Amino acid sequence: MQVSQKSKETFDACRFCWMCHHICPIGNATGHERNTARARALSLSLVERGGLALDEEVSSNLYECALCSGCAHDCITGWDPTKFTKESRLAAALEGVLPPYINTLLDNLADYGTPYGQVEENAELSKAIAALPKTADVLLFLGADARALYPAGALNAIALLKAAGVSFTVLQDEPTDAYASNFLIGAAEETRAAMKRASEAFAPFQTVVCYDGTDAAAFLREGKEWGVVNAHIVTFPAYVVSLIKDGKLAPKKGSTAYTIQDCAYIARELDDDTSIRTVIDAIGERREMLVSGKATMLGGQALMATYMADVIAKVGARRMREAVIAGAEVVVTENVGEYLALSAAAPQGVKVVTLEEAVLSCL
Ligand code: SF4
Ligand code: SF4
Repeated sequence: MQVSQKSKETFDACRFCWMCHHICPIGNATGHERNTARARALSLSLVERGGLALDEEVSSNLYECALCSGCAHDCITGWDPTKFTKESRLAAALEGVLPPYINTLLDNLADYGTPYGQVEENAELSKAIAALPKTADVLLFLGADARALYPAGALNAIALLKAAGVSFTVLQDEPTDAYASNFLIGAAEETRAAMKRASEAFAPFQTVVCYDGTDAAAFLREGKEWGVVNAHIVTFPAYVVSLIKDGKLAPKKGSTAYTIQDCAYIARELDDDTSIRTVIDAIGERREMLVSGKATMLGGQALMATYMADVIAKVGARRMREAVIAGAEVVVTENVGEYLALSAAAPQGVKVVTLEEAVLSCL
C-alpha cells in the first residue's frame, strides 16, 4: 500500500492503543470498534504487513472517519490518525477498491464540480448572485454544501455582507469542490488541480471569505501546504469579527443565550475557536457545552450524510443532547453539515442557527 513512512509509524503507534476511543463521534454513534482510530490502524497495519488485502471492506471503513481530528487532538503522544486515513483513501483509489458510493461522489465531482451531482440551484439564490456586481474587492465563496444543501444560509451570508456595506461578489460558477476532493481522495492530482483552479478563480480578489468552515480549512491547510493557494482567505466567523471591529456591523447585544457548535475544522485545523466566541459575545450570552472549543465533538458532516445518513443523524442527536444538557436555547453552527444534522435533531424549544442568521437577528 502506497503510504508514507510516517503513516506506517502511526499505524503501529495506534493499533494497540485505546486512549482516544471515547473521543470519536462516529464510534460513539455506532458503538462499533471498527470506527475507532485503533481498529482502523490495526487493519491498515495488517494490510501493510500483507496479512489482509486492501479491498472494498477495508476501504469502506476508511470512509467512516469524519477526519475531524478529535483523536489527534486528544493524543498525548502526538500521533494523527487523519493523516494515515487520508493517505490510505488515496491508496485505495489508486488500487481501484473504493466503495461504489464513494465512486459516485467522485464521478459527480468530475462531471458537475460538486459531489452532490446535478442540483438545480435555488432560484432565489441564483437571483441574488446574479444581482451582485461582477467585480469587487471581496469574494464570498459559498461552497458546494451551502449552494446545494442549504441555500437559505447562503442567502443570509449575502444579506449580512450587504448589511455591512461590503464591496463583494459571489462567483456564479464556483470552482470544483476542492474540499470534497480532499476529503475523498486526499492529496490526489485531482485535488491539487481543484485547488489550483480555485486559486486562479480567487486571484482577482483582495480577500476571499469562505462561508463554510470545511472549505476554509481545506484551502488554508492543504492548499497553502502544497503551495497551490495564494489568495488571502479568511473564515466567515473571522471576517464577521473584522466587520464588527471596523464598525461596519453594529449588532445589538441582547439577552439570548447562544451555545456554540464549534466547527472542528476551524477550531482544530485552523486553531481558531476565538472568532465565533467574539461574535457571540457581541450579540448575547454564551452557554458552553462541556466539550467545546478545540476539544469540540463533531455535530454532523454533509458528505458522510450522503452515504451513512443514519450514523450522521445519531452524531447530530448525541451532540444535540449535550447542547440540551448545557441549557442551550439557540445553538450556533459554523458549517452546513453540522447545521443540517443538529437542526434535524433539535427538540422543541431549542433553535439551531448559522452564525450569520444569529448576527442578522441582532442588527
Ligand atoms: S491517536 Fe494517540 S491516543 Fe489515539 S489511538 Fe493513536 S496513539 Fe492512541
Ligand atoms: S478523525 Fe474524528 S472521526 Fe476520524 S477516527 Fe479520529 S475522532 Fe474518529
